Amino acid sequence: MSSNPIHTDIDYGRAHGKQSGHLAIPYSHNLGGWANLRVPISVIRNGAGPVVLLMAGNHGDEYPGQVAILRLWRELTVEDVTGTLILMPCLNPPAAKASTRLSPLDGRNFNRCFPGNPNGSVSEILAHYLTTVLFPMAGYVIDLHTGGRSMGFLPCAHMHLVPDLKQRARMLAAAEAFLTEVTFLYADVAGTGLLPVEAETQGKIVITTEMGGAELVPATIHRQCQAGLRNVLIHCGVLRGKELSRAEAGLKPARWVQSLDRSDYRFAPESGLYENCVELGEPVKKGDLLGQVHSLENPDRAPVPVEANAEGMLVANRGPSIVGQGDCVACVAHDVDPRKLP
Ligand code: CA
Repeated sequence: MSSNPIHTDIDYGRAHGKQSGHLAIPYSHNLGGWANLRVPISVIRNGAGPVVLLMAGNHGDEYPGQVAILRLWRELTVEDVTGTLILMPCLNPPAAKASTRLSPLDGRNFNRCFPGNPNGSVSEILAHYLTTVLFPMAGYVIDLHTGGRSMGFLPCAHMHLVPDLKQRARMLAAAEAFLTEVTFLYADVAGTGLLPVEAETQGKIVITTEMGGAELVPATIHRQCQAGLRNVLIHCGVLRGKELSRAEAGLKPARWVQSLDRSDYRFAPESGLYENCVELGEPVKKGDLLGQVHSLENPDRAPVPVEANAEGMLVANRGPSIVGQGDCVACVAHDVDPRKLP
């Protein structure tokens, strides 16, 4: 069994029922020497069947998934489920309360903490618990993201191009069940230690999203996140009901796009005021102006352009107008048939 110090009141061995509780991560602060950080968790089990681990709030400032899972927490009964559904609406409550990407307790990006460390900081301890206790139980791992405060994102389900072709085919089908207009293959351009990579390495069917971002959550994105999530859970077989096909949802066949080259991700060449010049979802050609950085310190100087690296579509852009040198300000994606990729 794990050496992990997390304590929980959840009984993972219980064969039937709906349990609500926490994972308690020991930590100390100045007014709490024997305190613990509580991360909410609910386990709904109804006999044998698929095991789905459903999570949001990996980054605290990404809320549509947290809202969608909180709704399921209250709405679902044991009879709605076949198998086991594990709900974790917010992996990082201090960050969600502070509206930050990083944990205010240890300064860590939770999505760079895997596989984790049972003797590390609170984020590393929780990552280790997911890696060693919860991922091994699950067949499906769902991690709901947005672009956070820093990035706007065309609402999409997305995934890595995992090397195992059977796993990849099941992940493609699950991503399409999210019923977004665009589905996205992405690359890791900002470090290692990601939650989905650890789950993929363990052979799980991993489903992730970018449901908008840059703070405003329109009602349509909440609805899209909640309806898409329910359809995915039906697709996985853990939620009873009839899976809606894309045609039945009034959608065209899935449009897959990819940003697998580092040059698809555009970064601010210097600090200043960034002006977005293209809307999300708009087509662009190589050399098109995606945005430009204005200098507050040198108003006479022409703004510095950020251009498209190749023909494609803008899938992510900058949220706050203030940028620092090296901040990601745009992502260009290109049409692809993922079932023809090696
Ligand atoms: Ca995120």
